[in-house]
Amino acid sequence: MSGMMRQGAGMTSARTRDRLIGRLREQGIRDEEVLAALASIPRHVFVDEALATRAYEDTALPIGHGQTISQPYIVARMTAALHASGPLARVLEIGTGSGYQAAVLAKFAGHLYTVERVGGLVRAARQRFQALRLGNISVRHGDGCEGWPEEAPFDAIIVTAAARAVPTALFGQLKEGGRLVVPVGGEVQELLLYRRRGTAMAFERLGPVNFVPLLPGGIV
Ligand code: SAH
Repeated sequence: MSGMMRQGAGMTSARTRDRLIGRLREQGIRDEEVLAALASIPRHVFVDEALATRAYEDTALPIGHGQTISQPYIVARMTAALHASGPLARVLEIGTGSGYQAAVLAKFAGHLYTVERVGGLVRAARQRFQALRLGNISVRHGDGCEGWPEEAPFDAIIVTAAARAVPTALFGQLKEGGRLVVPVGGEVQELLLYRRRGTAMAFERLGPVNFVPLLPGGIV
C-alpha cells in the first residue's frame, strides 16, 4: 500500500468517524442505535474521492448535478424521528442523491425503496449499495412526486428534498399510522413529521432545515 493511500485511509478512518458521532451526540442526538448506524456507514464512500477527507465533517457536500449529500446531523435527526415513531418494515425515500441517507435508514428497515430523478446519481448509488453489500435497498430512476405505487403502502416515507407542497400521492402511499418526514418550504424551510390517521394527516414541527428543492416532474 502506498504512503498516499495510507494517508487517505487515515483521513477516513474509524477514529475520524467516531469524532463525528461524538459531535452528533453533543448536539442532542440521543438515539444510540441511530448513532451506531451512522458509525457503521462509511460516508466517504458516498462522495467524490476529492472530497473524501471532508466526509466526516458535519456539513452537506456537493455530489454533482447541482445536488448535495445531506449534513450528518440532519440524516441523524430524520432517521431518529422515524425510528422513534413506529415500525419501519417498508420504507420509501424520495431523493436518493448519493445514497447515504438510504444506507443509514436501511439499517432499520426491512426493505428500503428509494427514487431519484437523475440517472447518473441512480447508477452511482446502486454501485455503492452493492459494494457495501446493502441488499435490502431498491433504487428506481423516476419522479419521486409519484412515490412508488407498485410497492406501496409504506410504514414510512422520507423526502430528502424541500417540497413547496407535499406531493399528495405520497400521503396515499402510507399505511394507516404511517409517517412521512419532509422538509417543506422554499427559501425558508421547516422539517415536518406527518402521521396518517384514517383520511387525516396530523403533523408536528421538527425545526428549520435547508435542503435542495424537490423538482416537479421529469427525469434526467
Ligand atoms: N438523500 C440524499 C440527499 C439528496 S439531495 C443523500 O443522502 O445524499 C436531493 C435529491 O433529490 C437530489 O439527488 C435530487 O436529484 C433529488 N430529487 C429532486 N427532485 C426529485 C424528484 N421529483 N424525484 C426524485 N428525486 C428528486
